Amino acid sequence: MRSKTCFTCKEYKKLDDFYKNRCLKDGYLGVCKNCDKNRRKQWRKTNHGRLWRTWEGMKARCYCRTHTRYSDYGGRSITICEEWLNFNTFYQWAINNNWSSNLEIDRINNDGNYEPQNCRFITTKENTRNRRTTILNQIKVRIIKRCLELKMKQKDVAKIFSIIQNHVSRIKTGKRWA
Ligand SMILES: [Zn+2]
Repeated sequence: MRSKTCFTCKEYKKLDDFYKNRCLKDGYLGVCKNCDKNRRKQWRKTNHGRLWRTWEGMKARCYCRTHTRYSDYGGRSITICEEWLNFNTFYQWAINNNWSSNLEIDRINNDGNYEPQNCRFITTKENTRNRRTTILNQIKVRIIKRCLELKMKQKDVAKIFSIIQNHVSRIKTGKRWA
């Protein structure tokens, strides 16, 4: 048998038009390549497909050393709680916590992990703004540390950056300022 009928489009096609699958009786999928591609495309637009992408992204940032943003996540020991390593648990939590397709996952405490108590869904715009504030703070902290190394008075540094002196002293002692 070199040809068969696709379950979906019902067309009689050559076996080359079907993806191989060793688990199936004749070694090929029941739907043709074309229908399979369409099925995946449709799936990506479903809640399940979209949240799967979110979940994969979260795992990559935390555990994949070659990911471009690993240094901000896995590199800072940010992890995913054990229950969320199971996609279905994560999916259920998202659906029960006002997820919708225009929202992105956000960690409330930037030093905290991906876990129910520390996560919420916000818009891309809010997320970008948060990220920018964090980067800005990191740059600011670096400059402030440099000023202190150069023996500038805490009071003066505080005035330059329009922050209270207590913040400057916290940066000096290495306590993070958020
Ligand atoms: Zn087909």
